[in-house]
Amino acid sequence: MRNPFRNAEMRRYFDQYVEMYRDGKMRNADGTPSHGGSTRSMFWRGYRGIPHHMGLALTGHGTIGYAAFRAGHEINKAESKKLRSENLCVFCGEDTAFGSGRFVNRIPADTYHELDDGTEEYRDGYACAECMASECGRCDEEIPLDEDYSVDNGHTRLHWDCLTDQEKAICDRDVYDWERLTDKEKEADSNSD
Ligand SMILES: [Zn+2]
Ligand SMILES: [Zn+2]
Repeated sequence: MRNPFRNAEMRRYFDQYVEMYRDGKMRNADGTPSHGGSTRSMFWRGYRGIPHHMGLALTGHGTIGYAAFRAGHEINKAESKKLRSENLCVFCGEDTAFGSGRFVNRIPADTYHELDDGTEEYRDGYACAECMASECGRCDEEIPLDEDYSVDNGHTRLHWDCLTDQEKAICDRDVYDWERLTDKEKEADSNSD
């Protein structure tokens, strides 16, 4: 994290609050923010993005309260950046966080991502629906999630519209046959592999 101050004293105060936060000293035993002393309140204002000049002592630039405020602000910035990176699709890097429009259809995923210099970076997180969509074996267009059909036990994935009439009949019959089975037969069938 970048220390925003040039003044030696302010730099020291800033570091001190960052350290206190990391040591858990900015929170009460139950994890709630500790507001003991006005500088702690300033810290939590910075953390929450509340303006520093509202109704508290020690709020001016160049005060220890302002150093605490900036420490809270910078820590929150770093934490939300980390949270954002944890929500990026491990394949395409798009944001899959709540509110991104990709949250509902994301699925947990990990991959070894190849970097520009040829090395690989292990990424653990989520994959967006677009990246999980498979390519049709016949028309090369993408197949939306859960809308793929296969006539060779899943080796090739195909659009419904890309199946031949005969294959459509087979796929239909598979579904139909499955629905006609008794519970006992279904159980026997799913235990058969
Ligand atoms: Zn993606
Ligand atoms: Zn197709």
